[in-house]
Amino acid sequence: MTQTLTAPKVKVDRKWQLWIGGKFQDGASERILTNPADGKTLCKVAEASKKQAEEAIKAARKAFDEGPWPQLTAMERAQFLFKLADKIDENADELAELETMNGGKPLREAKYDMADAANCFRYYAGLVTKPTGQAIDVPAPSITTVVREPIGVCAQIIPWNYPLLMAAWKLAPALAAGNTCILKPSEYTPLTAIRLAEILHELELPEGVVNILTGDGAIAGNTLAESKLVDKIAFTGSVKTGKAVAAAALGNLKKVTLELGGKSPMVVFSDFDVDTAVDYALFAIFCNAGQVCSAGSRLLVEETVYDSFVKKLVERAKTITVGPGLEADTEMGPLVNEVQLKRVLEYIEIGKKEGAKLETGGDQPKGDKYGKGFYINPTIFTGVKQDMRIVQEEIFGPVVVVQKFKTEDEAIEMANGTDFGLAGAVFSNDINRAYKVIKKLKAGITWVNSFHNTYNECPWGGYKQSGWGRELGTFGLETYTEVKQINVNLDPAPVGWFEKK
Ligand code: NAD
Repeated sequence: MTQTLTAPKVKVDRKWQLWIGGKFQDGASERILTNPADGKTLCKVAEASKKQAEEAIKAARKAFDEGPWPQLTAMERAQFLFKLADKIDENADELAELETMNGGKPLREAKYDMADAANCFRYYAGLVTKPTGQAIDVPAPSITTVVREPIGVCAQIIPWNYPLLMAAWKLAPALAAGNTCILKPSEYTPLTAIRLAEILHELELPEGVVNILTGDGAIAGNTLAESKLVDKIAFTGSVKTGKAVAAAALGNLKKVTLELGGKSPMVVFSDFDVDTAVDYALFAIFCNAGQVCSAGSRLLVEETVYDSFVKKLVERAKTITVGPGLEADTEMGPLVNEVQLKRVLEYIEIGKKEGAKLETGGDQPKGDKYGKGFYINPTIFTGVKQDMRIVQEEIFGPVVVVQKFKTEDEAIEMANGTDFGLAGAVFSNDINRAYKVIKKLKAGITWVNSFHNTYNECPWGGYKQSGWGRELGTFGLETYTEVKQINVNLDPAPVGWFEKK
């Protein structure tokens, strides 16, 4: 029996506008959003034109060049960010519900995201007031200090899988460091970013310090990437778009950071408890319906426990409750939109054609509660080969491949055998072995006997084609600063370089 939550408290049938230079305005056009849980129309949202994107850039430029935000003390900026974090907490129920209605994820996941987003602002508010820079012992009579300064106007383009959280990962360090921003949310999930604009407006953030530009990637996003008035672009999304953004950014050699896709391995050795490993494997791939950049989409299991692991994995995957995100017993929601649904179903067909064995899933759940929603059942493939597309390419849905290995070296070779290098995990009770394997993994985020732990305090980003640079932690703040050395001569006297002897 499905336990339905009270009807949505959030009103979505309202105006959803752009926020440019501290003013809300209509877009040049409107996009109709669909509720992924039932396929019905949700609301209309403003879409920015190229001209409106240019206006947002100019507003951010003016706010940076004329202040006051960059000139505030670190403590003053921190105080603002702490207030913002408190407001996110106060509005967390509404924001989480909105996130679920817009993107489809179960409410319990959206609630985690809201708390994480608030804490991200708190983390950077705290960090920016801590000691920074260097004092360097150069030959007398000079003294040298190294200071960090804001970069300037930062354009930030984010995907649809963690809408408000990705906005926080981008805005928190940028604002803490004294930059001004234009945030472009995904055209599919812009609602919480617009609510964030309303909260920032209420808190009286100076005009133009943050601009929220909803709209199409090829128009709004590309205008940001190309603009010579933008000093830095921070992008999170697919490898394909990331490469286009990096190419467009070349015009003025703006600073670029890229957080891209993954095909992350979870390696399970036979000395580890199979039931616990299966439990982590389910969480690794089916959380947020697999729409997670660091999803554990490849399971590598030691030969001696492979059969029992697969049997238990399949049994447990079949018990996952798929349904609308707002229903209390839902464990896995729909995919974000129809495009994504078709894409994932296509990959499932590719897997079958490639000769992989479909152990469970691969289809859409049936029943009234699913309406015309974008659901796919948890899907598991075995019998795969390393060069198959379903092993090599990011599917970004609830689809996992299970591979068998004999030796540690074979596990490492398979784990590293894709173009990606975002995350990876090793499960073993032999800490020496686990550490040895982790050291050989070409990935930026790794776990031993765990999966998906994400901390605002720790660097996030990938090796190989999973990206450039790191977000979060001290690394995340550094990528929003320029480094300047200041040399002071304490005893100026003629250099004498061109003096005639
Ligand atoms: P996407 O690349 O399609 O879109 C991302 C953003 O780029 C959107 O806002 C989109 O409008 C914009 N965009 C599209 N074309 C553009 C262009 N030509 N110029 C500028 N901007 C443009 O990605 P998506 O489908 O929204 O998100 C899924 C992808 O994001 C997956 O590959 C996933 O792995 C990745 N992701 C990575 C991380 C990470 O931290 N590494 C986190 C979340 C998601």
